[in-house]
Amino acid sequence: MLVDNHNRTINYLRLAVTDRCNLRCNYCMPEEGINFAKNDKLFTIDELVRLSSLMVSQGIDKIRITGGEPFVRKDLMVLLRNLASLKGLKDISVTTNATLIGPYIDELKELGIKNINVSMDAINRETFECITRRNHYDVVYNNMIRLITEGFNVRINFIALDGQNIEDIIPMLELTKHYNVSVRFLEEMPFNGGSKEFQSIKWDFRAILAHIKEAHPGYYKLQSPKTSTSINYKIPGFKGTFGVIPSFSRTFCGSCNRLRISATGDVITCLYAKASANLRDIMRADDVEANIKSAILQAVGSRAKTGFEAQEKYKDVFSNSMTSIGG
Ligand code: SAM
Ligand code: SF4
Repeated sequence: MLVDNHNRTINYLRLAVTDRCNLRCNYCMPEEGINFAKNDKLFTIDELVRLSSLMVSQGIDKIRITGGEPFVRKDLMVLLRNLASLKGLKDISVTTNATLIGPYIDELKELGIKNINVSMDAINRETFECITRRNHYDVVYNNMIRLITEGFNVRINFIALDGQNIEDIIPMLELTKHYNVSVRFLEEMPFNGGSKEFQSIKWDFRAILAHIKEAHPGYYKLQSPKTSTSINYKIPGFKGTFGVIPSFSRTFCGSCNRLRISATGDVITCLYAKASANLRDIMRADDVEANIKSAILQAVGSRAKTGFEAQEKYKDVFSNSMTSIGG
């Protein structure tokens, strides 16, 4: 079992498989993209399988595959097939922009991978295409609906972006009227590859909830798992649910159970911290098992208590892009 220096059990790994993406969401990276890692700096699929297996042997029982866009990796299904047969791994989930997932939906189902987070920050086509800087609205919408209707546990991630998609919050919620889906409204964080700086946000979780209350005064709070980053609600009579994620306000650090590994092997113990170790070279040298395990133990043993503490220590952390961190 992995327990950090603040006595929090770490059982959840967010594993980024690439930093590349076929979209250019304006809150995530600049229009021209970032300085993407060269292929040989990324873990191979074999390395990702081995790393996952080592992490599970240390107590990780939930792995979320993220990126960049995970499905830009042509060999992603090879990794997922291997994860699906890993004993001790109870939950495999994927975060995706849903542009490329279509051909893989049947196999995901066969593998028992049910938890899919789809990032969709607007229900209006023009707004969506303006935010993502690409015109993939139809494929994203259709794949999202297909995932829901085929029985996946779909959560839509919607970042509240001042001046861009606030008018889409209520229409997006309408999806939960007819579908068993959860729409989660996230606070924007300043991890956009340096394209935009900010110290505060207008649309924090309280403002989002107040906005929703005007349209749906009867919504009520649901019980959420202790380690959940979302605070969840239901509108009476609606099939689905909605939530808010205080990712900038950081009200959930006390129960944080997660560790991130970037596609280039950086171990990130808090979103607001810089990498505390790199596993790629360790993975390519001798005595892999012992050295990976010891690097993980060391990283987990020196975590910041909160995102605010981390931010104090790593002043230049905001030059990062979420496509490198994995969200
Ligand atoms: N490409 C996939 C996607 O968009 O779902 C996976 C990677 S993406 C970096 C993971 C998550 O991070 C997405 O839900 C995305 O909305 C979120 N994200 C990216 N940049 C963000 C930012 N600046 N603030 C808050 N969330 C962000
Ligand atoms: Fe790509 Fe996801 Fe970043 Fe959008 S949020 S640019 S889809 S990595």
